[in-house]
Amino acid sequence: ATPATAQIGVTGLAVMGSNLARNFARHGHTVAVHNRTYAKTEALIGEHGHEGNFVPAETAEEFVAALQKPRRIVIMVKAGDPTDAVIGEFAALLEPGDVIIDGGNAHFADTRRREKELREKGIHFVGAGISGGEEGALHGPSIMPGGSEESYNSLGPLLESIAAKAKDGTPCCTHIGPDGAGHFVKMVHNGIEYADMQLIAEAYDLLRHVAGYEPQRIAETFRTWNTGRLDSYLIEITAEVLAHTDAATGRPFVDVVADGAEQKGTGRWTVQTALDLGIPVSGIAEAVFARSVSGHADLRGAARELPGPAREPLAPAAAGEFAALVEEALYASKVVSYAQGWNMISAASAEYGWDIDLGAVAAIWRGGCIIRAAFLDRIRAAFAADPQLPTLLADKGFAAEVGKAQDAWRSVVATAVGRGVPTPGFSAALAYYDALRAERLPAALTQAQRDFFGAHTYRRTDREGSFHTLWGGDR
Ligand code: NAP
Repeated sequence: ATPATAQIGVTGLAVMGSNLARNFARHGHTVAVHNRTYAKTEALIGEHGHEGNFVPAETAEEFVAALQKPRRIVIMVKAGDPTDAVIGEFAALLEPGDVIIDGGNAHFADTRRREKELREKGIHFVGAGISGGEEGALHGPSIMPGGSEESYNSLGPLLESIAAKAKDGTPCCTHIGPDGAGHFVKMVHNGIEYADMQLIAEAYDLLRHVAGYEPQRIAETFRTWNTGRLDSYLIEITAEVLAHTDAATGRPFVDVVADGAEQKGTGRWTVQTALDLGIPVSGIAEAVFARSVSGHADLRGAARELPGPAREPLAPAAAGEFAALVEEALYASKVVSYAQGWNMISAASAEYGWDIDLGAVAAIWRGGCIIRAAFLDRIRAAFAADPQLPTLLADKGFAAEVGKAQDAWRSVVATAVGRGVPTPGFSAALAYYDALRAERLPAALTQAQRDFFGAHTYRRTDREGSFHTLWGGDR
């Protein structure tokens, strides 16, 4: 029989699972590895077996037997039905106290269901969001585990050992909260990633078509921005992409890529969930819709001849000044989308009783994940100063910066509108900012209309209670 020597097991050895298993092994853990198709397990051992202590297992039974108790199994298979199938297969072989970790991109509602089912059998189920793609899985991802405190006590040190480290050396992994909390937070991470990418795309579009910059020049601009408050992985790779020349044609790479963006669905999940929670995440929603608009060749084709301003770039003398305004608009819009994302996490935490530490979420996104950035340390600090902060826009530091940027922000949006360059992300963020600061919103009129046609009643500014007006007299 196989001796139980492994501290952790990984099943599902496609790119993510293999890289995670190698990461565990490189950190000195003995890793049992298993895949439905055994050839993949053999390939992993053949190519990387020398990197650490692996225990290859051909069958699920051998795999389970190779694990020390309590057994800890990371599942890295296709999200959805395959994950349920694999959970079912292993749950039958495990004992109370053992831990199953789903590191795939599961919907948090599925994680809640699976956690409940396994809890009834005494098995801990940990839905762990893992961000950073293939490279992150190998060299240090940001890890967002949900599940019971007890499971984290035994699992935490293992996960923290392979996670990315923030600049101050802390691991980018923390216990997020019970059941679906980890996968929820991972979903919002991806939603924010969509928003960040859309805002960067709009900044690029403005630099290209209003400032009149060529891609190389825009790459330089992003490189400069990356040394300031926008310093982040996404800005860094944007500069690289824009500086890249297509080998086949010699043209700027960005010009040979088809302009229809695709999506796998976590952005859509974020917006659907935000609608259910009643939390406005307009920055993320606009980003998801922008990808959707870009993909509708039929609509775009049908509307191509509609009139609008010609895209004349500014005079070169004015371009540099405009580029500086775009940096401010980008930064202010980014603060808004993060504020909205955190509102969503906070609302879900209250709704599901997760008690999520909002600052800790920012702390573990400082490294390893796609939205990693210096900026996240500011968010961590904002929640450390005030754990009850109702919105990031109320943090003194962010409020001052966004306040200082607002003239530039308005000017950029106005210019974009005037010149016919779509900036749904910048515009929605600015509208949200103005809605929050407005003393009165036209929602008063909306309420009156609702009472008129549906007797939905309204509240008054001068008296407590709920009121209905008999509209139109004797109608
Ligand atoms: P994947 O292509 O999503 O899945 C392939 C793996 O799933 C293979 O090991 C395959 O086994 C296994 N599998 C599929 N159906 C199965 C079934 N019914 N029973 C048992 N095993 C089954 O792999 P991936 O790209 O490495 O991603 C794994 C998970 O990580 C996914 O949930 C993904 O969303 C998530 N994720 C991916 C990334 C990324 O950058 N790729 C980043 C973060 C999270 P066989 O070899 O036998 O076919």
